[in-house]
Parts: sequence; structure tokens; C-alpha cells
Amino acid sequence: MLVVDLCCTQGHVFEGWFGSADDLARQQAERLVQCPVCGDAEVRRLPSASHIQTRSAAPAAETPGTASRGGMTDGPSEADRASGSGEGDAARAQALLAHVQRVWMEAARHIVANTEDVGERFADEARAIHHGDAPERGIRGQATPEQRAELREEGIEVMSMPLPDAVKKPVH
Ligand SMILES: [Zn+2]
Repeated sequence: MLVVDLCCTQGHVFEGWFGSADDLARQQAERLVQCPVCGDAEVRRLPSASHIQTRSAAPAAETPGTASRGGMTDGPSEADRASGSGEGDAARAQALLAHVQRVWMEAARHIVANTEDVGERFADEARAIHHGDAPERGIRGQATPEQRAELREEGIEVMSMPLPDAVKKPVH
């Protein structure tokens, strides 16, 4: 037995009892599920209570009680939980990506603010600084993979980092 919360287009929320999730889907498709208040057959399934509960309880997985709560859920709720955690993962991935991009932009801005752009003279300039022929400072510019390999062989630390266009222009 599957008990679900349903909602019609008028916003009436009511409970529906079905033999299975397939049963629910079939009855919805055949418009056999109707709102008891207004008779609307355009009903959608609301996230079940266990669905919401599982998501909010997820971060506290260590606390006792979560297991028994999970044990009470039946088949369809398991499916809900799967899709629910999927959404959560996607949201977390989005948040993480946004965070990484922010950190990356910060780092890129920091590099731009604290280095001198020497453009294609990068390899020569890095070598000059390394040998004390040029003032000690952070520089940035373009270098070919061959140039970078040569610099490393000479013991000169170089770092590759793609700089977003937004930070390449000096910030005023
Ligand atoms: Zn209704």
C-alpha cells in the first residue's frame, strides 16, 4: 500500500491510497485520481513526508533513530529517497563548484594584483630574476611547454594557471 499526498491545480492537498507506485501512475494517466474538493483530475504528487524527513535527517546520519526512521520507509519511499539524495548531491556539487570558482577567481585576482605582466618575455625574465639580473618579484606571462620544462630543469619554479579574462585587465 502506497499513501501519498496529492495536490490539484487549485492547490487542494489531499491524501491518496494506491496499491503501488505503478497503480498511482496509471490512475493519474487515466485521470482517475480526482481532487475530493473540486473534482480536478490534474493532480500531482507532493513529496512524501518521509522524503522530506530523509533529506533533513541526512546530515545527522550518526544520530541514533535515523536508522529506525529509515527502516519504517517502504519501497516507493526508497525511490523518493534516492531521487531526493540525487537532488541534494547535485545541489551540493553546484555549491561546491560555485565555491571553487570563487576561490579560483580570488586566487587569480591575487596573482594579477601581485605580479608583473611580462607577457612573452616570461621565460627570459624568470631566468634573469633567478640569476639576480633582475629585481626579485612575482611575474606572470606566457610560456610554451618547452620553455616551462627548461625553466624547471634550471631549478626555476613556475606555475601554470589559466587566468580568466575578467581578471586579466588591471582592477581600478
Ligand atoms: Zn481541488
